[in-house]
Amino acid sequence: MRKVAIYGKGGIGKSTTTQNTVAGLVELGKRVMVVGCDPKADSTRLLLGGLSQQTVLDTLREEGEDVELDDVRLGGYGNSLCVESGGPEPGVGCAGRGIITSINLLEQLGAYEEDESLDYVFYDVLGDVVCGGFAMPIREGKAQEIYIVVSGEMMAMYAANNICKGIRKFSEAGGVRLGGLICNSRAVDNEEEMIKAFAEKLGSQMIYFVPRDNDVQRAEINRKTVIEHFPESTQADHYRNLARAIDTNEMFVVPKPMETDELEQILLDYGILETA
Ligand code: ADP
Ligand code: MG
Repeated sequence: MRKVAIYGKGGIGKSTTTQNTVAGLVELGKRVMVVGCDPKADSTRLLLGGLSQQTVLDTLREEGEDVELDDVRLGGYGNSLCVESGGPEPGVGCAGRGIITSINLLEQLGAYEEDESLDYVFYDVLGDVVCGGFAMPIREGKAQEIYIVVSGEMMAMYAANNICKGIRKFSEAGGVRLGGLICNSRAVDNEEEMIKAFAEKLGSQMIYFVPRDNDVQRAEINRKTVIEHFPESTQADHYRNLARAIDTNEMFVVPKPMETDELEQILLDYGILETA
C-alpha cells in the first residue's frame, strides 16, 4: 500500500486535484482511501456526490469511544473509501489535533490492514507551514510520499518551500520523501517553465502541469469530479495522466529547500521581468 500526502497552500486546489487523481486511479483499477486532513472537511465531497460526511472528531464527540469504522468511513466514487478528520470549533483548540486523533483512530480500527486490496491512502492536508498536527502525516512514517500542489504565484511557492523544510526535517527520522510538485495552473506567465525550474532547484520534479479550466467549477457545482461529470473532456484526461504519473513515479527525494532570496530570484527570472 502506498501512503501519499498532498500538501499545499489553502485554496491552491489540493482537494480538487486529490479527488480527481483518485478518480483517475480508480479507473486504473486501484482501491483508494482518502483521509481529509483539513478542518474544512471538504476533501471527499466530490467523491461522495456532496453527501456530507460526519467527521471523525464529530463522531467521537457524539458517540464517545465506541466508534466503528463504518461510522467514520463512507464508500464513494468507484469504490473509493472516504474519511474526514474534521476540526475543532473555529477559534477553539488546535486544528491539527483532528488529524492526529483521526489517524490514530483509523489505525486502532484496523482501517489500513483490514482490507488487503487497498492500494493507496491519500491524506489531503492543509499546510502553509508544517506545524503541529499538520505535520502528523509526514511524521512517524504515516505517509511515505508527498506531492505539493503549487502554482506560479509567490505565496504558493513560498508555502511549497516551507513544506519542503518540514519534509527535510522529518526525513531524518522517518522515510518520508518528496515525489514531486503538481503545478495547478493559475495561468501566470511562464508558469510551467518556472515551476519546472523551481522543482529542479528543490532536487525534485514537476510531476504534472494541470491547466486551469472552468470545467473544474462546473463539475464542482454538480458535486462531482471532472472525471465523473465530464469523462470525455480534456481536463478529465489531464487528471488521468496525473494519476498515471503518480502511479508510475519512481523519483522520491529529500528536498533541498531554498533561501527566500533564491526563491524570489526564480520569480524575477521567469515571471515578473517578463511582464514588466
Ligand atoms: P484546497 O483544497 O487547496 O483548499 P480546492 O481544491 O478546494 O483547494 O480548490 C479551490 C478552488 O479552486 C475550488 O473552487 C476549485 O474548483 C478551484 N480549482 C482547483 N483547481 C482548478 C483548476 N485546475 N481549474 C479551475 N479551477 C480550479
Ligand atoms: Mg481542501
